[in-house]
Amino acid sequence: FSSGSDEVEKAKLAAAAREKYGKEPTIFSKIIDKTIPADIIYEDDKVLAFRDVNPQAPVHFLVIPKEPIIGISKATDEDTQLLGYLLNTARKCAVSEGLSNGYRIVINDGKDGAQSVFHLHIHVLGGRQMGWPPG
Ligand code: C5P
Repeated sequence: FSSGSDEVEKAKLAAAAREKYGKEPTIFSKIIDKTIPADIIYEDDKVLAFRDVNPQAPVHFLVIPKEPIIGISKATDEDTQLLGYLLNTARKCAVSEGLSNGYRIVINDGKDGAQSVFHLHIHVLGGRQMGWPPG
């Protein structure tokens, strides 16, 4: 049994979730649930870090939240702690990947940012000299 107002509340929550997370799970959801393989370098209950399949540097890995946030522009103030946690994980993985001379961190967002997978991810690239500006 559920009252009419419960149904309205549920629909509101579902609409908010669709707005925030989109309708389609991305390939990264499949990496998270292990239905497709990835070269994982770090995992805990909140985040996953794995090597990019198309590396743009000798070391190139991605750090993603397990929560399927579409992109940085769709994150909210409630995600502040998680966003910090992602960056901190990137920092620690850079150490374990031996990037002692520095590295580049990139987040592509939306069309102009050339985002291709709509599940927030931090790129960490290193092991070569980076140029500036990026393309
Ligand atoms: O920032 P952008 O959305 O363009 O980056 C997506 C990245 O995800 C690409 O660098 C791509 O090589 C990587 N990727 C991956 N494994 C997949 C699909 C995409 O590492 N299965």
